[in-house]
Order: sequence, then C-alpha cells, then structure tokens
Amino acid sequence: MPRDSFNREINYLRISITDRCNLRCVYCMPLEGLRFLPNPELLTAEEIERVVRAAVSVGFRKFRLTGGEPTLRMDLLEIVERIAAIDGVGDLALTTNALLMTKLARPLKAAGLSRINVHLDSLNPETVERQMRWGTFNRIWEGVMASEAAGLTPIKLNAVVAAGYNEGDVVDLARLTLERDWHVRFIELMPLGGGECASLSIRRYVSNIETRRRIEAVLGPMTEIAASNVSDEARNYSIAGARGVIGFISPVSEPYCGTCNRMRLTADGKFHLCLLNDNELDVRKALRASNGDGEREAIAKILERAVAEKPTGHHLLEGRSTQDRSMYQIGG
Ligand code: SAM
Ligand code: SF4
Repeated sequence: MPRDSFNREINYLRISITDRCNLRCVYCMPLEGLRFLPNPELLTAEEIERVVRAAVSVGFRKFRLTGGEPTLRMDLLEIVERIAAIDGVGDLALTTNALLMTKLARPLKAAGLSRINVHLDSLNPETVERQMRWGTFNRIWEGVMASEAAGLTPIKLNAVVAAGYNEGDVVDLARLTLERDWHVRFIELMPLGGGECASLSIRRYVSNIETRRRIEAVLGPMTEIAASNVSDEARNYSIAGARGVIGFISPVSEPYCGTCNRMRLTADGKFHLCLLNDNELDVRKALRASNGDGEREAIAKILERAVAEKPTGHHLLEGRSTQDRSMYQIGG
C-alpha cells in the first residue's frame, strides 16, 4: 500500500475527466471568461485506463470520476467499462450534478459503476436556480431518482453551504435522512483559483458548526456515528429514528489532512498532489512518449513520487490556497 512521507496510506484516486460543465455554481465557475481545455489535451479513455492499471499495481483500490461535469464526456460509458474491468479496482464511483442521469443511470450501472455522489445545494427550486444557475431542481431530482432506481447506491447528496444563498435550506436537506437511507453531506466553501468564485467562497463562508446548530435547532440532537473508514472526509451523525446519515465535510473549521488518502488526476493528465496546494506532476507526457515497454512501471514511479511529495496539509487559515486551478479544473 503506498504511504506518503507522513505515513498516510494513499489508496484513492480521483480522476477528473473534463473541465466543462452544464451548470455554473456561483462558487465554482464564473459566467464569463472561462477557457476550457482543447480535446487533444484531455487524457483519452485508453490513457485513463493505463493510469488506473499503474495505480492498482502500486496498491490504489478506490477510484472516482469527477470533473467539471463528468457526464458531459461522450465516452463516459467506455471509461467506466475500462476501469471496472481492471482486477484490483475495489470501488468505482462518480461525482455528478445528475442533470443527465435520467438517461445515464442504467447504462452506467451496467458498465460497472458502483455508486454516485450528487451535488444538490437545496430542495428549493429558486435557490437552486440562483446558486447553481443554468439547471433546475426538478431535473436534478429526477436524476437522483433514476440513479437510486438503477441501484447506484447508497445515494450521497453533497450540498455546499453559502451565506445569503442556501444556509436556511439545510434543515430541509437534512430532513431527507428521516425517510431515506441517503447520506446528506454539508460542505464548507473553499477558495480556489484566486478569481471571483474564490473571493465569493471567502465572503459567503458558513462554518459547519453553524450549519449543525441550525439543523439541531429544528430536528433535535444528532448522535455521532463512529467512522468505519478513518479516511472518510465527512464526520457523520444521525437524528434519532432516521434511516440516513448527515455528514459534515469541514476542511476549514475541522481540517482532516492528517487522514487524507487521496491523489488527484486532472483531465489534462497531471497528478495534483493536494486539493488546496498547487503542486503537480505530469503523467501525460510519459503516457504519450511510451512505446509500451516498461510503461506501467514508469507511470507507477511518477505516481509513487506524487504520493511521496504530497503536502502535509493546507494553509487556508493563513490565507493561502490553490492559485493555478479552480475547483472545476481539479474535481473537488
Ligand atoms: N460537477 C460535479 C459536481 O458538482 O458534483 C463534479 C465536480 S465538482 C467540482 C465536485 C464538488 O466540488 C461538488 O460537490 C461541489 O459542490 C464542490 N465544490 C465546487 N466548488 C466548491 C467550493 N468553492 N468550495 C467547496 N466545494 C466546492
Ligand atoms: Fe459544475 Fe460541479 Fe462546478 Fe457546479 S460544482 S459548476 S456542477 S463542476
């Protein structure tokens, strides 16, 4: 199992497959001035498969596809099929805004996808339009229903909480866990990329301490659920009698860097060593220069170096974050 220089076991690779999206969430993508990667710069399905094979050879077991919006990749089913067929891949999940899941849920399940995390900031259609822009609550909800019916479970909903947008909607989201065996998780805003979304993420930040208080004031006290996986980025709770789980992902108020088990691969083929730092190692060059001989070992070596060089933690509280990329260019 790969360990970094702080003895953390790194066995989870998050793979961004596109930087494009069909939404424009206020804290993630500005409405203007975006420049997307040209197609030849994206790793192909076959190149992604080669990276995953190398990752498995050094002990990676968990994989997630993300973006941008990963369902916009025309070859998404092929990517899932290729990864799911690799011996040693223990878990393959997808993070999505679910707008296209009514069509894709069943084929994705058949291709070998285990489960999905859906990004939905509110159950109030007006808040969704204001905060996530371009999409509608109904379409996302239909996508969630189709995914559950297809067996892409347990359903995990991720809501990013932003002051002046959805901080009052967290109770309704949490209430979903009373009737459904879903995980509803609240994420604190993080400023990435230095642009207008980063400054909004600072100005509109809401601590999960406050979000939890808001929920408990209406739904009653929550009980913490002991972590079954030490690297789970969420601290999980349940309300008495609830079927589901309420999670808090609190990179700012309660950093979990000490148990981080992640490596990230960007859509243009860079290992991004930590979400909240800029350090990267190029893998695309090695993939494209290779004639096949000893390639897996060469890619594995780059990955092992990326693991060894992973930073210990972030510096958000000192006002430093990732500058060179925004969230949609890394994948969360
Ligand atoms: N489009 C997919 C989605 O929204 O789930 C996948 C990519 S998105 C970049 C991955 C995650 O990043 C989402 O859960 C989203 O809410 C989160 N995210 C985006 N910008 C963020 C920010 N500034 N702070 C915290 N989380 C953010
Ligand atoms: Fe798109 Fe996801 Fe970013 Fe929203 S958070 S703009 S859905 S990539």
